[in-house]
Amino acid sequence: MLDIKAIRKDFPILSRQVYGKPLVYLDNAATSQKPTSVIKALTEYYEEYNSNIHRGVHALSMEATDRYEEARQKCAGFIGSPIAENLIMVRNTTEAINLVAQSWAQHNIGPGDEILTTHMEHHSNLVPWQKVAKDRGAELKFIPLTSEQTLDLSDLDRLLTSRTKLVALNHMSNVLGTINPVKELGQAAHRVGARILIDGAQSVPHLKVDVKDLDCDFLAFSGHKMLAPTGIGVLYVKQEVLEDMEPFLRGGEMVKQVWDDHATWNDLPMRFEAGTPNIADAIAMGAAIDYLEALGMENVRQHEISITEYALNAFQELEEVTVFGPRDMSQRGGIVSFYGGDVHPHDIGTMLDREGIAIRTGHHCAMPLMNKLAVPATARASFYIYNTEEEVDLLVSALKATLRYFSKA
Ligand code: PMP
Repeated sequence: MLDIKAIRKDFPILSRQVYGKPLVYLDNAATSQKPTSVIKALTEYYEEYNSNIHRGVHALSMEATDRYEEARQKCAGFIGSPIAENLIMVRNTTEAINLVAQSWAQHNIGPGDEILTTHMEHHSNLVPWQKVAKDRGAELKFIPLTSEQTLDLSDLDRLLTSRTKLVALNHMSNVLGTINPVKELGQAAHRVGARILIDGAQSVPHLKVDVKDLDCDFLAFSGHKMLAPTGIGVLYVKQEVLEDMEPFLRGGEMVKQVWDDHATWNDLPMRFEAGTPNIADAIAMGAAIDYLEALGMENVRQHEISITEYALNAFQELEEVTVFGPRDMSQRGGIVSFYGGDVHPHDIGTMLDREGIAIRTGHHCAMPLMNKLAVPATARASFYIYNTEEEVDLLVSALKATLRYFSKA
């Protein structure tokens, strides 16, 4: 069990007010808040050992290098990777997926091949594959959705064939909260000789993700959704695949030797980290992982199951509101997307904001999914370790008042 009261004290921003009301932060799927230990790791780096890494012989540089590599080790441990060299530090999930598209897919996918994805992807895990498919003469295929917005796998044998080279899907939908059966899909992909890429942007911050257990080829995630700063993310690549990948960006740090007309590549993972990396934010991501591990990811998940169930029950009082995603908590995370009858989600978001309640409204970078749901946008509340049932109550009563207001308008 998480001690939410104690946790809230670790997040300075949670004590601020918005329009004179206590902040109720329910936009965690967009980005999470940061605990003092993460903020401190940033200031410590700049105040005490700021320097460039991997190239200096002086004390500060060696200290910074050690801390940066220690952060990589922590990320590896967090996702169950046996070795840290399989992790490439990037800016975010989007960059991680683009790296795979450029460095692996453009060389391993050819005319007539197929990429299998789903109708519930974030644009970050769709638009790069549209480009690969176009450039390489390959075809994009989609796993459709059931009426409860889970993946409809009834036709998988037809969709996943010897022509499929890559299955690319999210572990948890940022709109629906649906948790997808990525392990089973990985096994199915491997049976036909395809690779699997898991977009872990929403899963890694909220549940125990183990790359060994999932046996995935690629896993992408962002630090900023898991208590770390913006500008740092991770791409995990299975060893045998990583050795087969072309460099992404070219320049300093990623080379071993350079002549006038050619160069040889550095060891892994530096080969994929051209230029000065985001040292401070990587180190602060290590502090974020320390924080989450001290809580225990099982406890994080349990808290989210409990608060989401509470919210789903409370939403049942709102007859005119449609809530998307599966009802079974084993298949969903702490995201509740909804559509409030005739009231546009932006109007709902604006009214709730006046009460100090931060939710997200819009297409959530998932326009094809909005088309499938037949809505222009949704309103979305998303929970994390510091959210309370009292905050859900505030959300529901503000929502009731908003719907009442618009029904009279
Ligand atoms: N995939 C999913 C499922 C996401 O929720 C997000 C962020 N909303 C992304 C990818 C992209 O993450 P980032 O903006 O950090 O690159």
